[in-house]
Amino acid sequence: MRKISIFGATGSVGQNTLDLLRRRPGEYQVVALTGGHNIDQLAADAREFGAEIAVTAHGECFEALKSALAGTSVEVACGSEALIAAAGRPADWIMSAIVGAAGLAPGLTALEQGSVLALANKESLVTAGPLLMATAKRFGATILPVDSEHSALFQGLIGEDISTVDRVIITASGGAFRGWSLEQLQGATLQQAATHPNWDMGQRITIDSASMFNKAMELIETKEFFGFDTDQIEVLLHPESLVHALVGFKDGALMAHLGSHDMRHAIGFALNWPKRRELPVEPLDLARVGSLNFAAPDGGLYPALRLAREVMQAGGLAGAVFNAAKERALDGFIAGEIGFMDMAGVVETVLTQMSSEPGHNEGVIPLDKIAQTDHLARIRAGEAITALNNKG
Ligand code: NAD
Ligand code: MG
Repeated sequence: MRKISIFGATGSVGQNTLDLLRRRPGEYQVVALTGGHNIDQLAADAREFGAEIAVTAHGECFEALKSALAGTSVEVACGSEALIAAAGRPADWIMSAIVGAAGLAPGLTALEQGSVLALANKESLVTAGPLLMATAKRFGATILPVDSEHSALFQGLIGEDISTVDRVIITASGGAFRGWSLEQLQGATLQQAATHPNWDMGQRITIDSASMFNKAMELIETKEFFGFDTDQIEVLLHPESLVHALVGFKDGALMAHLGSHDMRHAIGFALNWPKRRELPVEPLDLARVGSLNFAAPDGGLYPALRLAREVMQAGGLAGAVFNAAKERALDGFIAGEIGFMDMAGVVETVLTQMSSEPGHNEGVIPLDKIAQTDHLARIRAGEAITALNNKG
């Protein structure tokens, strides 16, 4: 039986992963499941799958988890150190689906045991791409992308000579606000931003889709994972979310990856890799779809895309600053401290302030330096939010 651990098991990607495991009883043995505040879900899944250990990220949830799993053989633990320890338990395949930079340290530990890391946590690559890729190489581990666009690119590149690739294109649905004017965007509410027209995802990535910060992070993710140059990577608006990504070759061929918007395809591809097996994904009926639409993104409406390109050019610690400032700005928007379009302003301010931090020109930056930078960028973003409010 293959040993599986899922970090962020209670979230949208985590639950989709468990759905796939449930469909093939007897094939998988669950080692670790982790979650946050959703103790009922975590305990129910740990029981159902007979997990070795269940970990909540939060100390205050420990007693609830312990009593929910009393009388079972499931071990319980809490906190960030326990998450890292759980990632060190031997497993063949580990899903990294925690949201945010909190997913980085467990992901690195998982790579250190030479496992296959199915990477949904894009923040890891944005924050510490070179470190993550170097760790995988050093320990003979494999990273498989689970973000739908990156899974699509990965699939499109199988068997191809990467030097014959001219460009790659990732698509963006435009999230909740496609077709909105700048004025409308400035007044966008949390409730409006947290509803996605096509994909059913966690709240944070849904809002990031509306602001295009999700696609901005995916641009950086593409560069870090595949190693393409900044100007080889394009974003194309595609409201139907059926074409996930395209690979353009030097001979003019453009290969597209199409499929229903169901994350179980990308998760299942990573789970079954290097084979392909049947998945519970609706086949695409293109005759019924009828037409597919594409447009260039409007830079004026989506400053996040420009910022991402600046980060890609800068390299070094810029990704860690960008991600942390974005996470803090998003917290601010969710808490009602700042408006929807202010998020990009906060991130830009912090990027400018921190562009001369030492380490900006280094290749593989160690985790402690990254954590320090992440911490400082969150403080700077908090200050930028306060400054905005004082001005307003
Ligand atoms: P979600 O909000 O639904 O779930 C997040 C999970 O992380 C939960 O289990 C939560 O308990 C846990 N978590 C939250 N904060 C934590 C912390 N500080 N420490 C430890 N655990 C914590 O998120 P999601 O939509 O499943 O997304 C997970 C990751 O996958 C994100 O990085 C997201 O960008 C990426 N992703 C998601 C989708 C999708 O369809 N949902 C698609 C592509 C990529
Ligand atoms: Mg994506």
